[in-house]
Amino acid sequence: MPKTDPIAEARLAICEVGRAMWQRSQVAANDGNISVRVGDQVVCTPTGVSKGFLRPEWLAVVDLDGAQIAGERPPSSELKMHLRVYELDSNVTAVVHAHPMYATMMAIQGRDLDCRMMPETIVALPKVPLAPYATPSTKAVPDSISDLVLNNTACLLENHGALTWGPDLITAYLTMERLEYTAELVWRLESSGGGRDLPDAEIEKIRRLFGV
Ligand SMILES: [Zn+2]
Repeated sequence: MPKTDPIAEARLAICEVGRAMWQRSQVAANDGNISVRVGDQVVCTPTGVSKGFLRPEWLAVVDLDGAQIAGERPPSSELKMHLRVYELDSNVTAVVHAHPMYATMMAIQGRDLDCRMMPETIVALPKVPLAPYATPSTKAVPDSISDLVLNNTACLLENHGALTWGPDLITAYLTMERLEYTAELVWRLESSGGGRDLPDAEIEKIRRLFGV
């Protein structure tokens, strides 16, 4: 059986997820970035490229300090944000950043997301805090998310977009998908008279049943 190369696999998986994000309009033009940690190396999308048209060889491979080891193009200018998540939680091996429409509208309004309307959200994405605004590509961006990494799997980035992370790339990507779905649901409900939260007793029951 041929030996698998985890870096090559990560390159392909990132291209696949990039295309899915682009097809779902989560990233416009060259927006967004994706990374996967493989041991003490990180495979990251390059700067200035649409996530819908990535080529595996373009992806940058860096060490945990951000020094480039391989790849035809330099890594995303937001690599520092990804590296901070890996530094703070050793269980995380994938980070996804996107600008999905509804999540980004809420981030621009300066809101966080606390969805208590549906069992799925209470189990899988009980809260999405808001990280304070920070100028892109500066150290202020990783600093703005530091307090949120350990107890969450997603956050909104004020006046910017959304960030998700997880134990593998598909999980981090699906968290972004659920975040955007939830943000759209809340937005549409508010525009049509408002939604109703589940009663507190039911929320407690769900939490006990699913151990969350
Ligand atoms: Zn962004």
